[in-house]
Amino acid sequence: MAILVAGGAGYIGSHMVKDLIEHGEDVVVADNLSTGHRAAVDPKAKFYEGDIRDRKFLDKLFDSEDITAIVHFAAFSIVPESMTKPLKYFDNNTGGMITLLEAMKDHGIKHIVFSSTAATYGTPEHMPIKETDPQKPINPYGLSKLMMEQMMAWADRSYGIKFVALRYFNVAGAAVDGSIGEDHGPETHLVPIIMQVAQGKRDELSIFGNDYNTPDGTNVRDYVHVMDLADAHMLALKYLAEGNESAAFNLGSSTGFSNMQMLEAAREVTGKPIPAKMAPRRGGDPDSLIAASDKARKVLGWKPKFDDVHDIIATAWKWHSTHPNGFDDRD
Ligand code: UDP
Repeated sequence: MAILVAGGAGYIGSHMVKDLIEHGEDVVVADNLSTGHRAAVDPKAKFYEGDIRDRKFLDKLFDSEDITAIVHFAAFSIVPESMTKPLKYFDNNTGGMITLLEAMKDHGIKHIVFSSTAATYGTPEHMPIKETDPQKPINPYGLSKLMMEQMMAWADRSYGIKFVALRYFNVAGAAVDGSIGEDHGPETHLVPIIMQVAQGKRDELSIFGNDYNTPDGTNVRDYVHVMDLADAHMLALKYLAEGNESAAFNLGSSTGFSNMQMLEAAREVTGKPIPAKMAPRRGGDPDSLIAASDKARKVLGWKPKFDDVHDIIATAWKWHSTHPNGFDDRD
């Protein structure tokens, strides 16, 4: 009996694999290594290189392994890229889910925990955002993930495949022991970019827009630590194993930090000046995104350990400052 982590070589997936192994689970990873790193995968996990859009690959994997549940991270996740290459997102994310659910149905796998996103809400009507609020994405990434949620709901009704959709807000940080962390090429996310400026790998941070409807004019986001996120997936697997109904949960700290506040916090944590300049808005960014995450706390019993962005940034800094080239030296 094993858990399949699809996309287990990626940023969040690799932390999930580490968490599962630390909890004594048998773990199988499927990843096409298009954005992930082989070196990010714990050697105790069994690794299959392949694409979830490839039905033959999935059939072979499911025939060879006794998979009881799937944690699905295998997707593209860059909002600005999705604005210019929408079909890439619908193909890999939405299309991949069709093949995965078909294969689950045929192989009798009944549980899936899915990486959804705050981007499914679009521009929220009120804050904090509740799970029952309207989902009206304003970028193709968010829409691709909303379609995946909707497909899972029908797969539940028609085939009895139970799911938990975890709608992440902004994920940041790294494993506390500094062994794995965030390494995208090219990097687009705020925290790792700030870290790269602190390291001297970039000259300055560009802050995308200071005319948003927020207290300091820069976007406000809700940051959650990657290991807290992994813990929520563990609890979601348990929730499904106990026979509960399909459900969606927001995962965030319920506290908002502006891009300027994140920069200031990173200056404090790293002790580096981190030069920054204002730049034009990036497409597809809503003003603010803050989670109401009491449902996950109440129903799943989720208790995030990191409730201060300084602590989250400190783990990111540990990873970046000790691995200046990310996984490059180890791949
Ligand atoms: N951002 C920024 N400069 C950068 C990268 C990101 O100002 O170099 C901003 C971005 O516009 C957004 C916030 O940081 O307001 C978080 O963006 P990120 O790409 O990290 O995550 P997303 O919200 O897209 O999932």
